[in-house]
Amino acid sequence: LPASASAPAPRILTVANQKGGVGKTTTAINLGTALAAVGERVLIVDLDPQGNASTGLGVHRRPGQKSTYHVLMGEASLRNVIVDSGIPRLHCAPSTMDLLGAELELADIDRKTYRLADAIAQLCRENDPERSYSYVLVDCPPSLNLLTINSLSAADAILVPLQCEFFALEGLSQLIKTVERVKTNLNPRLTIQGVVLTMFDRRNNLSEQVAEDVRSVLGDKVYQTVIPRNVRISEAPSHGKPVLLYDNGCVGSQAYIRLASEIIRRERELRAA
Ligand code: ADP
Ligand code: MG
Repeated sequence: LPASASAPAPRILTVANQKGGVGKTTTAINLGTALAAVGERVLIVDLDPQGNASTGLGVHRRPGQKSTYHVLMGEASLRNVIVDSGIPRLHCAPSTMDLLGAELELADIDRKTYRLADAIAQLCRENDPERSYSYVLVDCPPSLNLLTINSLSAADAILVPLQCEFFALEGLSQLIKTVERVKTNLNPRLTIQGVVLTMFDRRNNLSEQVAEDVRSVLGDKVYQTVIPRNVRISEAPSHGKPVLLYDNGCVGSQAYIRLASEIIRRERELRAA
């Protein structure tokens, strides 16, 4: 082997659902933290102008800071914008409000649907051991816009959080259609890693009913692990911490740890297949 043998390519998972408030950001942050805790090297790419993934990891956003916006526009490399989250093995490419304009600005740009894919490929080619990752998790905005399309074009697989509420499945067919379209036209390797039920309330019959319905439609694409509604999960971001660091023992943290091991298991099966 040459001395500079390159690190294996990261698995790129995008956390997407065009509905807001379903647990995308919470899942990206806490899944990322759980994966890092078991030794994976994780990069969280914040593609939401709101930047909740960045702030939830304690990464402060300053005006004028280079962000994923500059990466998409070709004004910075991913390496230039990546910051250490302070959590071992967990890095973040933060977003800034500039991203609000990206949709329009990207419209006239070359390879507009592959800007993120190209940036990740460039990062991998740099082959920098300080910035090599086994997982890249992309946190998407609540929309099927060009930012989300960029994430789907870059990803190996999509991870879909579904909130256990009455309209859980509404909008899912549109999301799946978009995934199929991206697969046909932009990224043939895209698959669905899985669907995670979030904000499950055990005391609420509706939650049970929704979970059952979703499983009957999506079968084993739905993870066994269900993320419960848990106040510690919702408190953690205001402390700039993933719930796993805010309260390691709470049921929310435990659920994200189980989700991470389920995902690692699926990844192993996929690689063996
Ligand atoms: P999205 O990124 O899809 O818009 P978020 O992850 O930001 O959704 O979650 C929306 C809100 O719900 C946030 O305030 C978050 O803290 C809260 N939340 C997410 N998951 C849970 C949960 N399992 N239990 C309680 N609150 C949650
Ligand atoms: Mg979000």
